[in-house]
Amino acid sequence: MKKSLQTCIVCGRGADKRTWNNLAVLVCRNCGLTWRESFDLSEDYYVKLNEDRANLDTQKVAIRLRNSEDRFNTIRRFLPRAGICDIGCGDGSFLSILRDYGYLKCWGIEPSEYYHKMMVDRNLDVIKGEIDEILGISKRKEVHAITLFHVIEHLDDPIGSLEIMAESLRKGGILIIETPDKNASIQKATDHKNDLVYPEHLFYWNEKSLCRVLQEKGFKILKISRRSFDWKHSPIKTSLMRLGMVKSLSKGNTSLDIKSQTDKDVVVIKDKGKNFFRELLRILLAYLVRILRRDDYLLIVAERV
Ligand SMILES: [Zn+2]
Repeated sequence: MKKSLQTCIVCGRGADKRTWNNLAVLVCRNCGLTWRESFDLSEDYYVKLNEDRANLDTQKVAIRLRNSEDRFNTIRRFLPRAGICDIGCGDGSFLSILRDYGYLKCWGIEPSEYYHKMMVDRNLDVIKGEIDEILGISKRKEVHAITLFHVIEHLDDPIGSLEIMAESLRKGGILIIETPDKNASIQKATDHKNDLVYPEHLFYWNEKSLCRVLQEKGFKILKISRRSFDWKHSPIKTSLMRLGMVKSLSKGNTSLDIKSQTDKDVVVIKDKGKNFFRELLRILLAYLVRILRRDDYLLIVAERV
């Protein structure tokens, strides 16, 4: 994967060069879509991915499941009772939740050998491969919904991938995408120096760019929502940053990725009960972030038309 784009893939306009978290990026002057100046990950990067975060302890698995259940509750009214394919399903936490709630014929597609094995061990239905596997699946099975959680920002050809998904779904089929929001308040508060900005994230989407491209590829937008990883358990400092009340945190506290977020949550859980008012404040701030729509991720539900 060696590629360099000079114009916006959504609107075709020019872009300005910026530096985000020590990475050179280009920001579209019109729609704001942002992408890395150079896509320099190896071809088999995700196949070989055997990340340290894969060494999941029981508590981290539980937090990931809790996050997936919250996401499930956000979108459940749009989900069909069967035929859901989770592309880039990772450790399979969302598929586990679907299984727990009695959803039938759900499966995942995952390129990483490590995660593929983990899902097979959990008796989850998974195909090892890339996004285009969905075309083969849709010929054999009825695909009623496709979910992509934290995947689209990793793709070097997101438009081509959305075309594949449009082809795999019939009229009325549902596509759900969750991705870091380029316009999230945390991006402004940290001046883009946070763990949402890193080499694997090739594109940084916002509501305008993602809705436009979905509509152009044959989808109607049903819901635009925002959420953060395991948001109800967000630490106070993270909420204050999302609210713009803290500009940046001391070193080691700006991490927002799943690994470090769960580490922080473990601390929060241990401290729970020690200080009732502090815990109450933490919860109130987490809900305030939600009410004011200052969450980190964009969650879009669309229907194939
Ligand atoms: Zn653009």
